[in-house]
Amino acid sequence: MNLVFLGPPGSGKGTQAVRVAEKLAIVHLSTGDMLREAVKKGTPLGRKAEAYMKKGELVPDELIIGMIEDKVTSGDLNDGFILDGFPRTIPQARSLKDMFRKNKTALDKAILLTVSDEEIIKRIKGRAEQEGRADDTEAVARNRLEVYRRQTAPIVDFYRRESILTEVRGEDTMDNVFKAILKVLE
Ligand code: AMP
Repeated sequence: MNLVFLGPPGSGKGTQAVRVAEKLAIVHLSTGDMLREAVKKGTPLGRKAEAYMKKGELVPDELIIGMIEDKVTSGDLNDGFILDGFPRTIPQARSLKDMFRKNKTALDKAILLTVSDEEIIKRIKGRAEQEGRADDTEAVARNRLEVYRRQTAPIVDFYRRESILTEVRGEDTMDNVFKAILKVLE
């Protein structure tokens, strides 16, 4: 099963992606996690990405696409996967489609978790207090939401046109959202 999880920051997609990947025994690939790891290690990619991440801006497409391409071509994703946090722009979605075409694979579904703006700001602020993530102050949270609306929301229509988009209401308990996702994957 090859899946993409979509949703605004704070929609719970990261948490759900981990749980669903574990349940289906497929790979969970989070570009946010990969980037945070690169920043921590101080790799060339991490050094380039850090400033964008701190501001809640997107890291330039070419850096991200290269990172994902390595994964796709290495065969790590051959037995199914959930992409979490990628694609985030139309050029990323198009590149992904090309990469898959070359590797004779395809996405089965794009799952969109829907959550209201008010709830998102509340959740991100809560997470900031708990985890002290540098990109989770309120101002940065609002910027991330704005960036999502401007740059990432258009890919929802991209996948709708490809007839693989499914919406799941993300404003419920973690367990109920998890069950709802599994149901649409049956
Ligand atoms: P996340 O953990 O998915 O919220 O990602 C944290 C940060 O990493 C984002 O705010 C971006 O700065 C960067 N990032 C993660 N994935 C991408 C992507 N696909 N394209 C561009 N930037 C990304």
